[in-house]
Amino acid sequence: MLLTIIGGCGAWPAAGQACSGYLVEHDGFRLLVDPGYATVPRLLERITADQVDAVFISHGHPDHCADLNPLLRARTLRDDPPAPLPVYSLPGALDAVLALDRPGMLADAYVLHEFIAGDQLAIGPFRAQTCLLPHSVPNAGIRLTAGERVLTYTGDTGPSPDVVDLARDADLLLAEATFADQVPQDMRHHLSSARQAALQAKDAEARHLLLTHLQPGTDATAARAAAEAEYDGEIGVATSGLTIDLH
Ligand SMILES: [Zn+2]
Repeated sequence: MLLTIIGGCGAWPAAGQACSGYLVEHDGFRLLVDPGYATVPRLLERITADQVDAVFISHGHPDHCADLNPLLRARTLRDDPPAPLPVYSLPGALDAVLALDRPGMLADAYVLHEFIAGDQLAIGPFRAQTCLLPHSVPNAGIRLTAGERVLTYTGDTGPSPDVVDLARDADLLLAEATFADQVPQDMRHHLSSARQAALQAKDAEARHLLLTHLQPGTDATAARAAAEAEYDGEIGVATSGLTIDLH
């Protein structure tokens, strides 16, 4: 299983950067997880729009799904559009982004598979266990398994024992860490710090922790240091172009 970071900014894209976007590949199948703001230009530096085989979206915040619109446009506004793109999301999560264009314009560009958090999905070669994790809107974390490798992605979430369960013995925990150490009081149930992500990686005995969704202005060095204080495994910070081969 190969993970490529398309973007790792939380909330809004920093200069030259993209918000959440993760390309997960196995056996030639390309699953795009969370096409957030500004991910499509970065994605198209690597592959063409029609080479995306499926999209999984954790939740309906635009820093996780806004670039579904240009991705669908890039596939359908051409003479030889590819087959409709399978898109997996929680019910209603994509209503806003799918309403950006006039009704029907993108209708043939995608097939929407709405799932209930807790469902187990089969997406190409991936088995995908989903789980509702605490955020300000419904958010589905995902545990992807393929070729005996496991990647867990949190989407956006406050600390929860469900994160630990979803990441149990994972080869990689890709964890939202909007802040380095302290989460502002009014967000503490809905977002996490790097320190909290590390505590959960430790409890889950995940082998590798990749911090992502750092809000622009959050110091990556401080985030890594806060995580290192709690977790002995390998720690990285998601930046565009980073590739990790889980083998
Ligand atoms: Zn969010």
